[in-house]
Amino acid sequence: MQNYKTVWANCLKIIKDNLGPENEQVFKTWFEPIVPVQLEGNVLTIRVPSQFFYEWLEEHFLDLLKRTIRLQLGPNGMLKYSILMDTSIAETPIVTNLPSSSRQATVNRPKDVPLIIHGENEHEIANPFVIPGLQKLKINSQLNGNYTLENFVEGDCNRLARSAGYAVAENPGRTSFNPLLLHGGVGLGKTHLAHAIGIKTREKHPDKTVLYVTSEQFLQQYVEAVKNKNTNDFIHFYEMIDFLILDDIQFWATKGIHTQEAFFHIFNYLHQKNRQIIITSDKAPSDLGTLEPRLLSRLKWGLAADLGTPDVETRLAILKQKLANDGIEMPEDVIEYIAYNINTNVRELEGALISLIAQSSLNHRQITIDLAKQMIDKFVKSTTREITIDYIQKVVCDYFKLPLESIQSTTRKREIVQARQLTMYFAKKLTKSSLAMIGLQCGNKDHATVLHACKTVSNLNETDKQFHYWVDELEKKLKD
Ligand code: ADP
Ligand code: MG
Repeated sequence: MQNYKTVWANCLKIIKDNLGPENEQVFKTWFEPIVPVQLEGNVLTIRVPSQFFYEWLEEHFLDLLKRTIRLQLGPNGMLKYSILMDTSIAETPIVTNLPSSSRQATVNRPKDVPLIIHGENEHEIANPFVIPGLQKLKINSQLNGNYTLENFVEGDCNRLARSAGYAVAENPGRTSFNPLLLHGGVGLGKTHLAHAIGIKTREKHPDKTVLYVTSEQFLQQYVEAVKNKNTNDFIHFYEMIDFLILDDIQFWATKGIHTQEAFFHIFNYLHQKNRQIIITSDKAPSDLGTLEPRLLSRLKWGLAADLGTPDVETRLAILKQKLANDGIEMPEDVIEYIAYNINTNVRELEGALISLIAQSSLNHRQITIDLAKQMIDKFVKSTTREITIDYIQKVVCDYFKLPLESIQSTTRKREIVQARQLTMYFAKKLTKSSLAMIGLQCGNKDHATVLHACKTVSNLNETDKQFHYWVDELEKKLKD
């Protein structure tokens, strides 16, 4: 059995010999950076750093490569390319997806040429950008396998969007959710859910061509197509897609009038053929007024589902799921601390979790509530921390060893009344919430009750030693 590394090392020797000493620089530039990836039968896969690199090899060294591979792997030897897309070239338009005229030349190459283009292989490297196969429909869907529906925790904040997404995956293009517009603030899961719906669709309908593209990529591709005078290819390419996901359409709000027009035509075509379209936006349709009016009106045809900020239970569930997925254990109180304190969006929630894990492993410290407090404090300060009413309730209840629900109850038991009043007092003092809002969240009381509670606590704080001690302790805990 030959090993891919040895095979490639032998190829390099042959190539180097063929190029001769006068071409040493050529060899260094174009062959040394190539990484062999695997050998399957008579097919050797090599990874090249970029699309440009691949095209250069094709253009200048195809013959040499062909001869070399055959010498090594026999007359049926083949070479597959895998193109790595690192962040620095992530911005490059994926015009490689387009059946452009230059690519057509590749298609027409005689059968025996030892070149096939790598199809999708999501497990091979972390972020491969792989050229689609030459069969027109075998395109790289650009779906991220980690963003599944199973990993997308359900909560009140996303129920509608999630179930609409599920319905769409079951029956793409055949529900009234076409287009499905997912909107919501940054970090609330639009991109994740969009990928998840795409992945589910492919599971349920393997025959469908699913494509995920960001609005920015789409715009770059379009601009590139105009430059290369192949906008027709561009449009045809998109017209082949059965399930198109366009992420972050708000990106076009201030630019790309022509891109929007091109998309408008593609949209109409796909919609008419009952192909599914999913669009995400961090603004609601009503705030996308700067988009091309005809396009904007199309967005309103289907369903607009919004993703909201997750409540504390959902935040807890998300954290627990991430930890379980990563196989990391963390004390319950630490998880709760994070969930109660980071309430902006899921991305920050994950960020906090990751920093905490990093902190503990880099400094060889155990993850304890103290470490979490230190870290979250720094983390939250930089993102303007706000103490929430939820969190105050939790701290007060923990302190008096009362169940969390007791604050919401109607009981007149003295200790519970006291805990409720303290919660209201701190909510008034430490949050920006109105009296009405505080009342609502503390057992559905009116604003007068909240005001009364605040006065009672202030009075007792001045006159009752025990009570003063409690207020002091609680305040420390809350600000800590
Ligand atoms: P957006 O596109 O809305 O800015 P993303 O989809 O990029 O947000 O989500 C940010 C991060 O939060 C991602 O890592 C995503 O996996 C995670 N995330 C968001 N919502 C959920 C959810 N409901 N369950 C699990 N993870 C989520
Ligand atoms: Mg996004």
